Amino acid sequence: MKTKKEVSYILSIISGMYPDIRTELDYETSFQFLIAVILSAQTTDKQVNRTTPELFSLVREPGDIWKLSISEIERMVSSVNFYKNKAKFIRDTGEKLVREFESMIPNDLKKLQTLPGVGIKTAKVVLSVLYDAPYVWVDTHVHRVMNRIGVVKTKRPEETDVCIEKKLTYEQKLTAHHPLVLFGRYHCTARKPKCTICPLQEKCDFAQQELISVRKSI
Ligand code: SF4
Repeated sequence: MKTKKEVSYILSIISGMYPDIRTELDYETSFQFLIAVILSAQTTDKQVNRTTPELFSLVREPGDIWKLSISEIERMVSSVNFYKNKAKFIRDTGEKLVREFESMIPNDLKKLQTLPGVGIKTAKVVLSVLYDAPYVWVDTHVHRVMNRIGVVKTKRPEETDVCIEKKLTYEQKLTAHHPLVLFGRYHCTARKPKCTICPLQEKCDFAQQELISVRKSI
């Protein structure tokens, strides 16, 4: 397991590879961002961005959702996975925000999770992006990267989430999320991680293990 100093070094390298980055989801208003995150479950950000322009031209704030029927929302988001469920979540979330939160996106983890379609991961990414809250949203990329390097030893993203919550400092949680996701999405990829050009090769448990296996096989 890595020391605090090593974790700090690892995160600084990953952050340095993706400076000044933010979410890859397109949006203009907070409600549009929440919609985009709901749509992004089991769907790539690129696909969400291809899907949202028509919907976002009509819906900027929660109250706008009443302009559309469920079947109209379904049609507009039909290119993403589970679009029927997501269309209903979007509609119900808009209504709930109007009725119970004065059309504002709540700045609170528990309150956010009372919205339809908003689980812990969605709530954390919304708080992190909209309110600069110190949360790392552990998706499959972050889970894989953290385990390969050896920052955590966990089987499921939920366990990684709990470990990271304890291991990372407040400042690290504020800045680590997007670099970690992009590092997993484009560099430490699931099938072909770019170990040979990786600046973390010497610190990475996975790469060191691979090296040992290669040496043994020679
Ligand atoms: S050395 Fe390979 S496995 Fe380790 S972090 Fe880099 S790309 Fe990922």
